[in-house]
Amino acid sequence: MRLKDKVALVTGASSGIGLSIVERFAAEGASVGMNYRIGGKLNPKSAAARAAKLGPNVIPVAGDVSRRPDVEQMVQEVVNKFGRLDILVSNAGIEIKRSFLEVTDEDWNRILSVNLYGAFLASQIAARQMAKQGQGGKLIYISSIHEDVNLPDHTPYCASKGGLRMLMRNLSVDLAPLKITANNIAPGFIVTPINESTLKDPEAVKNSLEEIPLRRFGKPEEVAGLAVFLASSEADYVTGSTYYIDGGMVRQVAKY
Ligand code: NAD
Repeated sequence: MRLKDKVALVTGASSGIGLSIVERFAAEGASVGMNYRIGGKLNPKSAAARAAKLGPNVIPVAGDVSRRPDVEQMVQEVVNKFGRLDILVSNAGIEIKRSFLEVTDEDWNRILSVNLYGAFLASQIAARQMAKQGQGGKLIYISSIHEDVNLPDHTPYCASKGGLRMLMRNLSVDLAPLKITANNIAPGFIVTPINESTLKDPEAVKNSLEEIPLRRFGKPEEVAGLAVFLASSEADYVTGSTYYIDGGMVRQVAKY
């Protein structure tokens, strides 16, 4: 029970990596707010059923991370239910594949507002709550290897993830006096709904696997394992860092 008596909020947790993190956190003894977006895959009824399945200490928390009133409400619901907030996992994210010359203002604004502005909002509102409690806290961002490595036809996505890297680095210093740590998890290729179209295309699967030295895709549970470490007291002295979990993808040798 590495997260016993801890209280967490995980954004974008109706599927994929976020859902796995909620499952692992609950199994490690944490009380967890499982955020989902109304209009996404879950509705209030299915979200409540999903949370109940994960255990008595998981509650569904509806809200769009790109809207301040929603995020205020999300944090408040967790605090009302569990009395505090110790861990924020800022995981909600979207991507759109489009050639840079075709990217619209709407594409740019949507991606940046969920992936970066949403993380800013959640960090600020969570950190204010943690500051009030006076016992520190942990901010964890699900960034991407694309906070560092380019991805063709994904400029807004890469810009948002690059922004997350500096958001995290700044907060690791600004919030250190409050004993609030900030770290990024940078996944490579993980089998989740965000990669649905690639996973349906055998040629794309083959090409993607060739980019990964370990020659397999990652599982959401593996990312969740790293999140448990960063959320636990074992990581109390860890701040300001990005942890790659990518089967060696960023170390791939260029093929000429
Ligand atoms: P996913 O599509 O299953 O998860 C994304 C989640 O974000 C969904 O549950 C979605 O409902 C939620 N979401 C989207 N907009 C939202 C909003 N406005 N408010 C609240 N929630 C919202 O895919 P995933 O792979 O689990 O993605 C999770 C995170 O991991 C994303 O930030 C993604 O960029 C990052 N990531 C994924 C991979 C990968 O290979 N799967 C690699 C690197 C980074």
